[in-house]
Amino acid sequence: MTGLAAFDLTGRTALVTGSSQGIGRTLAEGLAAAGATVIVHGRDETKAAGVASQIEAVTGRRTHSVVFDVTDAAAVDAGIAEVERLIGTPDILVNNAGVQRRAPISEFSDADWDALVQTNLSSVFHLSRRVSGGMIARGSGKIIQIGSVQSQLARPSIAAYSATKGAIVMFTKGLCADLAPHGIQANAIAPGYFDTELTRPLVEDETFSAWVRGRTPAGRWGDTKDLVGALVFLSSAASDFVNGQTLFVDGGMTAVV
Ligand code: NDP
Repeated sequence: MTGLAAFDLTGRTALVTGSSQGIGRTLAEGLAAAGATVIVHGRDETKAAGVASQIEAVTGRRTHSVVFDVTDAAAVDAGIAEVERLIGTPDILVNNAGVQRRAPISEFSDADWDALVQTNLSSVFHLSRRVSGGMIARGSGKIIQIGSVQSQLARPSIAAYSATKGAIVMFTKGLCADLAPHGIQANAIAPGYFDTELTRPLVEDETFSAWVRGRTPAGRWGDTKDLVGALVFLSSAASDFVNGQTLFVDGGMTAVV
């Protein structure tokens, strides 16, 4: 397949975790606009269903919502069973759900460490393991992690978050090693700084916000729409020979000191 047709997602199905708001929501909207049937996901049923009906209203395409806690392996299994009932094994799994916790390392709590590891990392393992079985049986699939520039750049008070995002880079390469022989591609997108609920305290801190603008060669915070092109590419036939990679979408932040 060549040309723009390679980017067309018509007939494809997708689950985007954590798409009830923020980056995940925009990514779900972007996949639906590119032709995919999408499942919106989060923990709050009303919120997820509301986003699904808004996407359906804009695209005219049936859009579902499924709710489960990604930190609970049994809930992930039950949630994916519901996804399979609605759309079968998704063609595209976007592991986006994540949280942030900030504190200097000497004050960092066990609870915050556990929340980060379970939400940002263990969930990616549970979801990828559960969905890959169906993808292997079908002989195709795209698994895309949402990592972070913090997999490459350290900052004070977020060592634990950085560790989870760094691990995702290697986990994605491991998925490639296991799944490429089955026609499945696993890649990651590493965003720079984007204005969402997760970063709201940073956006509202004018000193930090100015630092982001100065440190980013593009001179601004990311808009969640900036991530859609990379995701559509990594979800589509256009990336069938791209595997195990992390694509930084950060306005140049990790390219320049
Ligand atoms: P938000 O806080 O805006 O959204 C997080 C989403 O994850 C929500 O939909 C939330 O759903 C869901 N979620 C969180 N915990 C769980 C859970 N235990 N089970 C199920 N769903 C859960 O964050 P962003 O959109 O900013 O971040 C999305 C991803 O992008 C994260 O992985 C983050 O690390 C990454 N990222 C963000 C950057 C940024 O600048 N914003 C930069 C780099 C990476 P609900 O509330 O309904 O439960």
